[in-house]
Amino acid sequence: MTVASGTAALLDLFLPRTCVHCDAPTGAGILCAPCWSRLPLLAAPRCDRCGHPSRGRACTYCSSLPPFVRAVRSVCWVPDPVSSAAVEALKYDGWIGIAAPMADRIARLAWPADVLDERAAVVPVPLAATRRRERGYNQAELLANEVGLRWGIPCWADVITRERNTPTQTRLTPSERSTNVHRAFRVNEAARGVRQRIAGAHIVLVDDVLTTGATLNAAATELFHAGARIISYVTFGRARTAAD
Ligand SMILES: [Zn+2]
Ligand SMILES: [Zn+2]
Repeated sequence: MTVASGTAALLDLFLPRTCVHCDAPTGAGILCAPCWSRLPLLAAPRCDRCGHPSRGRACTYCSSLPPFVRAVRSVCWVPDPVSSAAVEALKYDGWIGIAAPMADRIARLAWPADVLDERAAVVPVPLAATRRRERGYNQAELLANEVGLRWGIPCWADVITRERNTPTQTRLTPSERSTNVHRAFRVNEAARGVRQRIAGAHIVLVDDVLTTGATLNAAATELFHAGARIISYVTFGRARTAAD
């Protein structure tokens, strides 16, 4: 076996043989090209701040964001057969190689000019330590690393920690979720120069999916109280609201 074919064989172990959604042969991908083209993208025109499709109406989503949140962007709606397959492949099935093509799409999202000028770092929404150990990785951190590389800014995966496990949120109401994540995040005082890094910075929080926003809002509030000036959010998936 040559080195090249040995490497290919090794890589094969980390790639499914067929698309995780439709079972078509993918060559070297995790999701096939036709499936990527079927992602349910958030339609234009969109609210300049929260990124929600506006359809000419006043935005109702922005009111759920804390005042220090500048802008929010997401690639596509969830749940949906294709976008959920991508999220689940990354989060639950261990196909971590899908973080790169997901990050390609996240990194291409359009932002207001001030966000492009100011964004200093990406910060992944952390998992609680026990959850991270169970999974072996934090899917948001994999995405944030890749997005930071594409944007040419650092990924600060160490600046906040998640203090406790929050139960799976799927079956909770929005207000239960909000209580659930209240003060779940803490600045990681053990991280080198953490306060100096955060001070005055415009930070972009990264997560795989935005559902109610309660988790991102809680993480952003902790960063703001630690001295960050502005926080923006970016996610791959976004849950539809009742108005969508
Ligand atoms: Zn497919
Ligand atoms: Zn809005």
